[in-house]
Amino acid sequence: MSNYVSNVLDKVTERNANEPEFHQAVKEVLESIEPVFDKHPEYKDAGILERIVEPERQIIFRVPWVDDEGNVQVNRGFRFEFNSALGPYKGGLRFHPSVYAGIVKFLGFEQIFKNALTGRPIGGGKGGSDFDPKGKSDAEVMRFCQSFMTELYRHIGPSTDVPAGDIGVGGREIGYLFGQYKRIVNSFDAGVLTGKGLDWGGSLVRTEATGYGLVYIVEELLKDHDDSFEGKDIVISGSGNVAIYATEKAQELGANVIALSDSSGYVYDSEGIKLDTVKRIKEVERGRIKEYVEEHPSAEYVAESFDIWNVECDIALPCATQNELDEDSAKVLVEHGVKIVGEGANMPCTPEAVEVFQENDVFYIPGKAANAGGVATSAIEMTQNGMWDSWSFEKVDAELNKIMVDIYNNASTIAKEYGMEGDLVAGANIAGFLKVANSMLDQGV
Ligand code: GLU
Repeated sequence: MSNYVSNVLDKVTERNANEPEFHQAVKEVLESIEPVFDKHPEYKDAGILERIVEPERQIIFRVPWVDDEGNVQVNRGFRFEFNSALGPYKGGLRFHPSVYAGIVKFLGFEQIFKNALTGRPIGGGKGGSDFDPKGKSDAEVMRFCQSFMTELYRHIGPSTDVPAGDIGVGGREIGYLFGQYKRIVNSFDAGVLTGKGLDWGGSLVRTEATGYGLVYIVEELLKDHDDSFEGKDIVISGSGNVAIYATEKAQELGANVIALSDSSGYVYDSEGIKLDTVKRIKEVERGRIKEYVEEHPSAEYVAESFDIWNVECDIALPCATQNELDEDSAKVLVEHGVKIVGEGANMPCTPEAVEVFQENDVFYIPGKAANAGGVATSAIEMTQNGMWDSWSFEKVDAELNKIMVDIYNNASTIAKEYGMEGDLVAGANIAGFLKVANSMLDQGV
């Protein structure tokens, strides 16, 4: 590693002590964009790297709310506005007990490059809370969201910062958040949040977008190698929004999705996952994946979620959470002959796992390219909101497909240009970085 890059990395580690996920995300990007600085000394002169690793603004706030028993609860809220070179800050809100500054920073940092890759005018940001929606009543979730927005509203806006969902934040939460925002500002600013309900400014395909987009980019990679999804065995971790719609699209394209999981364990169904059952359990009943086997006795339930990578497959799509697939799991997947790994979640593979894939010629598509379909469709939602219009499913879906194909081609071309053919990590990071760096250069210090 060059002195320049390693000095910046040291500074990041020192300034953001005890935030290993953020260090991991920065290291991954910085290592792979190193060759850029030989070609572009002007970035170094303008301190682009030093600036890009520091969020433009970090907002941390108290979120007090009253539970159903009448007890006062206090959570911590976050919104980190990382980079606005390309457009308003854009990125999801995550509600999960593991959320702290380091998680928000890693996600916000990734979001800068992911958003750049979509080709849409959106900057990078991320937020959330250590609030756990699991086991809470609807009324508790509503009161929490209202309190969260009572502070957040002053920092966001359709041209300022546009949050959306992430883990623990779906249509229900976006609804409560939007209702509170509208009540406070007394203005129907549809473009202030994305992932809205279809009756009040939401976009068709937004729910499906991350999962569909993941399958579209893998399809493009397959096509590039004269192959297709037909007959492929696929293992998908998670059973949230991303996993469900990746399953739906992969099945539509003729693949056999044989396993899905949640944080407690996984189900294996050699005959193919029955998605209607999963949708009912997860989307309607908010239940656990193990209930699947009650209806489909041919399926098996294993009570250890990370063991899902022991299931033999051609394509693995980690769609649960960060660092869910480690070196040992990667070795097992390689032993079993996995050909492609596409990240539906943000940073689900550890750096050691990625190394195993790269050493063994497994095609690996990093999250910032592979899961960009969600935020890309959020940008399409913002476009419709700005036009006071709503587009057909076919129109949004075609646009999403085109964006994913463009991301694949863009990352492959740049990788080739920099002498790293087939390395989609370098390709995606460099392509995203160049766009942001050039814009920061144009806009001055
Ligand atoms: N949370 C999603 C992501 O990680 C979507 C963000 C958005 O739509 O703003 O990209």
